[in-house]
Amino acid sequence: EEQSTAVIEISELYKYYGDRRAVGPLSARIEKGEIVGLLGLNGAGKTTTLRILACDLLPTSGAVRVGGLDVVDVPHEVRKRIGYLPDTPPVYPEMTVEEYLIFAARLRGVAGGEVEKRVDETLELTEIGPERDRPIGALSHGYRQRVGIAQAIVHKPEFVVLDEPISGLDPVQIVEMRDLVRSLGGDHTVVVSSHILSEIHETCDRIFVIRDGEIVASGTEKELSERLLSGMRITLSVRVGDGGAARATELISGVAGVSQVELAAENAPGGRRGVANYRVELARDTRDELARAVVNGGLGLLELTRGERELESVFLELAKSDEPARRKKKRRQAAAAAEP
Ligand code: ATP
Repeated sequence: EEQSTAVIEISELYKYYGDRRAVGPLSARIEKGEIVGLLGLNGAGKTTTLRILACDLLPTSGAVRVGGLDVVDVPHEVRKRIGYLPDTPPVYPEMTVEEYLIFAARLRGVAGGEVEKRVDETLELTEIGPERDRPIGALSHGYRQRVGIAQAIVHKPEFVVLDEPISGLDPVQIVEMRDLVRSLGGDHTVVVSSHILSEIHETCDRIFVIRDGEIVASGTEKELSERLLSGMRITLSVRVGDGGAARATELISGVAGVSQVELAAENAPGGRRGVANYRVELARDTRDELARAVVNGGLGLLELTRGERELESVFLELAKSDEPARRKKKRRQAAAAAEP
């Protein structure tokens, strides 16, 4: 039953550039209407994977099927059904937005009588209507990025592949781009890459974390945080008075589930006299006991908050390539073996 619902199926995909492995082994299933985020640091293999999906690059081995169609056997069929925003969008700076979209629509096989309607709809969806008569070269980066998305969806593809659509945008444009990508879901099955979790976690139904060409974790944001974050990191501010932090530290350390207590220096930026700031790690959620311990101990509880960027930092740990470490180890082993 599951078999029939997956619309993108990647099995045992490998891509080598020369003898260098950029991707693989990589297997994944993406369901119809899903928005999936491919999250990884520079060089993790995101662009390579997306190019293979979009039939812009051949795999070395493995199978990739998009809507049941094999990207190696019938690339021209796949291309008709897929829209692709490459990491450097093909732009013709002297063409106007409208001219370019008409061109893209014709290129992708939109019937002559349909072109105008499709271009109008796409301009509206990507909110670049007001810029339609301007040359692309005169647009801001954010607007050019929208033109890139517009050309990817002008032929109403079932599949949309977007390579870092958010990179280089300002905070307002990031929010707008998120909404735009989000709005594609349902009608389209979308794969979008990023190297910053916070840029895509709200947009995507599921996230694949990719490192050294392999998926090292996948799931919804909630699943990822449950799986990857053992315990929680808490920021705690306690009014300790002139007596100093010793008693507070003792109370906090005594709470069940507390696995680490770190006291910020008294003269740290933002520090106040008589107030102790802690970073506390809990092996499990015992925040209420922590609060009670402080209050029952006669101290003032000023703040108790959960670290906001917890998942981001765990992602960074997870995504860090261990290639250099492996190479170092190999070198050490080789050196040891060479010794008489
Ligand atoms: P970025 O965020 O920097 O674009 P990425 O996750 O998209 O990174 P890829 O561009 O897929 O990563 O690159 C994966 C690996 O393959 C890297 O080590 C890169 O140097 C290598 N690579 C990519 N394209 C080529 C190419 N055309 N020839 C040789 N090596 C390549």
